[in-house]
Amino acid sequence: MRSITTFLSTVAIAAVSTLSTFAEDGHDHEKKVAGPNGGRVITSIEPHVEFFVTKDRKVQLTFLDENNKAKEFSADTLKLTGGKRLAPTQLSFAKSGNAYVSDKALPDGKAIPVVLQIKLDKKSKKVTEKFNVDLSECPSCDHLEYACICAHGDDGHDHEKEKADKK
Ligand SMILES: [Zn+2]
Repeated sequence: MRSITTFLSTVAIAAVSTLSTFAEDGHDHEKKVAGPNGGRVITSIEPHVEFFVTKDRKVQLTFLDENNKAKEFSADTLKLTGGKRLAPTQLSFAKSGNAYVSDKALPDGKAIPVVLQIKLDKKSKKVTEKFNVDLSECPSCDHLEYACICAHGDDGHDHEKEKADKK
């Protein structure tokens, strides 16, 4: 009996230490944070990348360190395709300081579907991120919808309805 108890407590200790390892990682991918410029942080890739739309509708991509600050990083390939499926706009990126800025502006509209492709280096796999660049203001936080950090972001809430209810 004694040996079983010892075994169980060993398992318990192992489980606890596994949990604390996760906690120490400090990489909370669930919590939404805005990027240093107030853009959308793409967390499906390491390092994370901030997707930000500038005033002239260009796309600015900034690689981030673990403190969510801009970091110097050179990616192998950055490509963005946006807009209508039949007449998509292709954007390529050039380095500008710590960030990458697109050569062209996003196509017209307030909600532009985009496909962002990132290849970090020659050996790494290409990561594809698809989302809608919704440039309308979020009703409940200080960000535009594409960079929204409040809870309603992905929960299927009807934003238009929320706005109407507020009036
Ligand atoms: Zn929001």
